Amino acid sequence: MKNLLGGKGANLAEMCQIGVPVPPGFTISTEVCTYYYKHKNRYPKGLKDSVLDNLKKVEVEIGKTFGDLKDPLLFSVRSGAKVSMPGMMDTVLNLGLNDEIVEGLSKLTNNPRFAWDSYRRFVQMYGDVVLGLKPQNPDDIDPFEDIIEKRKLDRHVELDTELDVDDLKFLVAEFKKAIKIRTGKEFPTDPMEQLWEAIGAVFGSWMNPRAKKYRDINNIPHDWGTAVNVQVMVYGNMGNDSATGVAFTRDPSTGENKFFGEYLINAQGEDVVAGVRTPQPINKVGIKEKDDYTLESIMQKQYRQLATIRTNLEQHYRDMQDIEFTIERGKVWMLQTRIGKRTAAAALRIAVDMVDEGMLTRDEALLRVDPEQLDHLLHPTFDPNAKLKVIAKGLPASPGAASGKVVFSAEIAEEMAANGEDVILVRIETSPEDIGGMNAAQGILTSRGGMTSHAAVVARGMGKCCVAGCQDIFVVYSAKQFVIGDKSFNEGDWISLNGSTGEVILGKAPTVEPEISGNFTKLLEWADDVKRLKVRTNADTPEDAKKAIEFGAKGIGLCRTEHMFFQEERLTAMREMILADNPLWRKSALAKLLPMQTEDFIGIFEAMDGYPVTIRTLDPPLHEFLPSRIELMEKLLDLKLQLKEIGDLNKMDKILKEIRINEDLLTKAESLNEFNPMLGTRGCRLGIMYPELTEMQAKAIFEAACECKRKGIDVHPEIMVPLITSKEELAHQKEVIDRVARETMDRHGLSLDYMVGTMIELPRAALMAQDIANVADFFSFGTNDLTQTTLGLSRDDAGKFLPFYIENKIYKDEPFQKLDQDGVGRLVKFAVEEGRKTKEKIKLGICGEHGGDPSSIEFFHKIGLEYVSCSPYRVPIARLTAAQIVLKEKAEA
Ligand code: PEP
Ligand code: MG
Repeated sequence: MKNLLGGKGANLAEMCQIGVPVPPGFTISTEVCTYYYKHKNRYPKGLKDSVLDNLKKVEVEIGKTFGDLKDPLLFSVRSGAKVSMPGMMDTVLNLGLNDEIVEGLSKLTNNPRFAWDSYRRFVQMYGDVVLGLKPQNPDDIDPFEDIIEKRKLDRHVELDTELDVDDLKFLVAEFKKAIKIRTGKEFPTDPMEQLWEAIGAVFGSWMNPRAKKYRDINNIPHDWGTAVNVQVMVYGNMGNDSATGVAFTRDPSTGENKFFGEYLINAQGEDVVAGVRTPQPINKVGIKEKDDYTLESIMQKQYRQLATIRTNLEQHYRDMQDIEFTIERGKVWMLQTRIGKRTAAAALRIAVDMVDEGMLTRDEALLRVDPEQLDHLLHPTFDPNAKLKVIAKGLPASPGAASGKVVFSAEIAEEMAANGEDVILVRIETSPEDIGGMNAAQGILTSRGGMTSHAAVVARGMGKCCVAGCQDIFVVYSAKQFVIGDKSFNEGDWISLNGSTGEVILGKAPTVEPEISGNFTKLLEWADDVKRLKVRTNADTPEDAKKAIEFGAKGIGLCRTEHMFFQEERLTAMREMILADNPLWRKSALAKLLPMQTEDFIGIFEAMDGYPVTIRTLDPPLHEFLPSRIELMEKLLDLKLQLKEIGDLNKMDKILKEIRINEDLLTKAESLNEFNPMLGTRGCRLGIMYPELTEMQAKAIFEAACECKRKGIDVHPEIMVPLITSKEELAHQKEVIDRVARETMDRHGLSLDYMVGTMIELPRAALMAQDIANVADFFSFGTNDLTQTTLGLSRDDAGKFLPFYIENKIYKDEPFQKLDQDGVGRLVKFAVEEGRKTKEKIKLGICGEHGGDPSSIEFFHKIGLEYVSCSPYRVPIARLTAAQIVLKEKAEA
């Protein structure tokens, strides 16, 4: 139904069916929108008649006639796509008014101010949306706002609500003049003409730049189209027995099972969302200030009715809902319900709670949490022990910790973020035009607006930290400053935001690691019960290994041993090894590294007690362990200059020694220099050229393993040889490893199970998999190198053109993030099939970055790999994804 009626239309229809009070109306389907765009903005045949038929039905139901002068029927005309695109498209309210009808409305309601205010809003909205008077740039003057501001100045009033009926009449007349000047046409007085023009404008807004940008950011296809909802207007601004509000059936920040929302007495819906007046909480849950007055306390009957609707909607949809309601002279109307956007913490809590409440099964709960969202829960928060200088406080609109340089416009935020800078976007209030800047910023701070303001809703959806409605700050766009008391803060100053407390902090605040909640552990344990794929981690140190175990990894899929060599004392020994020009010297340098490597492996085996640990022999080209040639040349020059100045013989000797070492390093660096180090002397080629290197690493692994076994630790080493292209390369290295294993085990009088396998990370290795499997106990797909070499691009240089490729849709996705399933994936699938021809039970896994990407994980599951391995922080994402894949498969079967 959503595909056809859009989210809003489908939900309105469903609410009607379950007996929730909804103002009568009808929906023009998304198919009409797609037709409209395919046929040069023309409507399909039959639409006119169908709209008129439905209009008649509404008239009968409500007992009023569209265009009637005495008892007018007014409509709202709203967009509504298949998925929610908050605020991106257009809406026209109070449609059906003209100079005569407004008088009828005035008499009927006995409230001329209400009638004229509705008319004023209608002309303004119609002018903006249908007649195109809305400013396109933030700096352009809004003609309607300009007229309102001038009138307020003339009348010496501050608020719109202080304008009286004569003022409103004046505004309407002035608005119409402005429209005539801008468009050359009179404002249309025929309600039917207004209706058709508004329908066209809503369809048109599907293609406005901000809607397009929103779809690009959120991967929403441009050809879905929007539906148009035409619905009888109900009014929350008919006096003090009327109100309007937005609410969530549970707390969207924490997920707590409490009715949570905001409302304004005597107001229209847009007033709440736009954040122009600060709304009040509907009940005690949202009380922030002592003088808040709740809907629960002042409209008890209506609040109770809303609370019942809340329960009914949750029971019906079995999910948290985001609702809009209006109370018109004491009568409650529901204007909208949709699945509520929520933070990651809330998503988790709601899913787990709903299982406990018997509303969902565990399998359903697993499908309710977006795996990528889990990432937000694993990231740092501000260090609670740090002394933070809190300079202001607003509403905790979207949790998280963010630091960055202050910027005041979305464009600058995008520009600076593109240059790698962290920014905090500071606005009086945000609007849909700011979407790009909000996406680019680390966090968002607004001085106006409530918990359901645009900034708050959008930030929560993005998982972005946001502090909203921070009235302590005064923003002056023209000066690029915000002011707190007598202190001002400029563009470029560092601030930090705590989206969970609403605090604005001076400078860059220190952060600490997050704690994992009980719900997190619970949901992921349910995931483990369902998934087939095992999840390992890529970890190079005992610390990373421990962290990964906390996140639920069941083994290490890749330990990149080179990372162990970068600490200072190890680097010196490593350089000695590189400088050695015969095997004997090399061995003596390697002997220094052996105990350090052994120690690391012991730590890793201990952390991974009982789980397999795949350790890769050295992979990168040796020059990566040397300073760059330029650096060495500069150093030598500097030392020689020092030598010139020195009179002291001792010091001179010292410098001469240093010069000799650096000259040796430079000579070596020159000889090791390769134009493309990714394809040169690296991977198994190193171990083949210098077998003593593999020997040392194997010795460290087996020494550590034997020592651990003696201590009662269950060890399962899997030694992995990188970058092979042929069986012979692997056989060469396997011979060294097996020999060292035998010698070490004999020496310890122990026997251990271990495996020797290889990475499949070059196209030839994939093509020769059947042959290679004769020597390999396992294959681990190195999809990083396999992507580089299959696509013929270097991961270090591809950043220069890949963004252009993605933007221009030459590549659908970034191939280093999402596996290129058609190309690289095909090679992986081929290698799996070929490997199994030789060894049916060959162990198969993946350890490239794609091991943590949901769509790639799905592919690996489908081709039958045993495990994926990814960085510790991606482990929970991979666990949940792996479970969701199984559940989706079950549903499809
Ligand atoms: C790979 O190539 O996919 C891999 C995991 O190895 P590295 O990224 O270290 O080259
Ligand atoms: Mg690799």
